[in-house]
Amino acid sequence: MTRWMGTVLWLLTLVAGSAAADTLATVKQRGTLVCGVKDSLPPFGYVDAKTRQIVGYDIDICKAIADRLGVRMELKPVTSAARIPQLKEGNVDLVAATMTKTPERANEIDFSHSYFFTGQKFLVKKGAVRSLKDMAGKKIGTAKGSTSEQNAKKAIPDATILSFDDYPQAFLALNQGKVVAVTTDEAILAGIRAKAPKPEAYEILDERISDEPYGLGLRKGDAALLAEVNKTLLELERNGEAKRLFEKWFGPQSAAPLKRTFTITADK
Ligand code: GLU
Repeated sequence: MTRWMGTVLWLLTLVAGSAAADTLATVKQRGTLVCGVKDSLPPFGYVDAKTRQIVGYDIDICKAIADRLGVRMELKPVTSAARIPQLKEGNVDLVAATMTKTPERANEIDFSHSYFFTGQKFLVKKGAVRSLKDMAGKKIGTAKGSTSEQNAKKAIPDATILSFDDYPQAFLALNQGKVVAVTTDEAILAGIRAKAPKPEAYEILDERISDEPYGLGLRKGDAALLAEVNKTLLELERNGEAKRLFEKWFGPQSAAPLKRTFTITADK
């Protein structure tokens, strides 16, 4: 390699490195933080019928980060499968979209401290299926590119897992009799059931096949933005705002109440 080529290579590395690490500066300069969010999963991210705006727990978390940075929040809907590609392609600054932290994903992107905890369950028509054993040889619906897809294949190897773009489509398949269950995180299933025309016609089975801690997803190397994100999360916990947000979306007055069995703490 000539000295000239070496210099060019060094410069390219420098540019690539700083581009990856500079999202915080870009966000501040642009004046907006672009978050990839779900737009059909109440109460995490869905379109409010009255305002036509995307709202939800994940959106409020994104807003808290934007506020801390002193910028506006911009939302871009993403499917489960599109989350990591959209982030890597630079179409969003971070992902706040019911995303479980896994070692495989952590090879591709960085995660914030965990900010929500749930676990995978099964939504069925009441009385149609009593346990996982009943689902052997049957079809089960879930979303492409999700941990739910992988976990279900392991938990019920002789069932057929049908993967849809997102969970509302899997729920439609349940209603059309094309699958006997929809499987994903309990907090998502509770939201789907609550918004169904007849919630009492469905039930969520007790069996829980995984732990799903959610993290905000960032591009690898975005250390400055990650530090701000993590500071925001810990501050929300400290000042009671995280608890208030949980109560707002999952409290007793919400469509699908849940108990808050966690606090946001720094990853070890
Ligand atoms: N939390 C799981 C995941 O990240 C399932 C929910 C989803 O697909 O968003 O894959």
